[in-house]
Amino acid sequence: MSEYICTLCPRECHAVRQDRSGQGFCGMGLLPKVARAAPHYWEEPCISGTKGSGTIFFSGCVLSCVFCQNYCISQEHHGKILTVDELTEVMKALVRQGVHNINLVSPTPYIESLLACFAQYRPPVPIVYNTGGYEKVSTLQRLEGLVDIYLPDFKYLRGDLSLKYSRAADYADYVQPAIREMVRQTGKPVFDEQGILQKGTVVRHLILPQNTKNSLAVMETLQRAFGDSILVSLMGQYLPMGQAAQYPEINRRLTKREYEKVRNRYDELELEGFVQELSSADEQYVPAFSDDDPMKGVTEG
Ligand code: SF4
Repeated sequence: MSEYICTLCPRECHAVRQDRSGQGFCGMGLLPKVARAAPHYWEEPCISGTKGSGTIFFSGCVLSCVFCQNYCISQEHHGKILTVDELTEVMKALVRQGVHNINLVSPTPYIESLLACFAQYRPPVPIVYNTGGYEKVSTLQRLEGLVDIYLPDFKYLRGDLSLKYSRAADYADYVQPAIREMVRQTGKPVFDEQGILQKGTVVRHLILPQNTKNSLAVMETLQRAFGDSILVSLMGQYLPMGQAAQYPEINRRLTKREYEKVRNRYDELELEGFVQELSSADEQYVPAFSDDDPMKGVTEG
């Protein structure tokens, strides 16, 4: 690919993107920049299982969350640029290692490369599309039949919050149609006999300090709009990372009271899925990234 005018995500930058550079909001070229590829054991139990999720962390992001725990790759763009053939080899190596799935984290800027990769290699395990939820339906439609599991966030319902913390005032306009399209493609969750997810949509919500009203509204919206056609993963592991120190109200961990308020509503609404304990907020769960050897976690089996 030589030169490309990009409208892949709701930002619709119309930016010129070349193989190794890009002038859009995400700042990325068309070739995938990868900061880590390895079995990952800290996703939801039905994703990580016992053998790990074959997770590929891409550099760059269409959002810009000030509290991002992967800030050094999402916004500082650490990582190594790979060719499509090299990305294909990474997926093959992860599969040989026995992972339950291939888990693509923040993949949207690289859809052209991913489609080229899947044209030459279809992994024999489910493909997980792990995204912040700020997606265009027309872009997701290009993934139909390729993605087995969608793992979107539903971060905010209020535009003032999404503008302040993720520079995306229109986040709430996009996230629900995006999830609807994901559910249309995957159908209801399907598990194998070991309880590992094979198809479906798992919506994540991270509770932010001082913002429990937003979390309650997101829980209620998910129940009303999607019922039992999705799984909901409630995340209580917030840590003040990235630029959170510049926002005093979110520059702390969740309190037990905040966590329990949202968790109780989750239970009252009888949402199906996973609830992360408050005690899982620990920096040891933040993976190590690399500029020169993102594949050092992949060993040949
Ligand atoms: S993927 Fe990047 S360049 Fe393309 S529209 Fe989105 S932010 Fe802009």
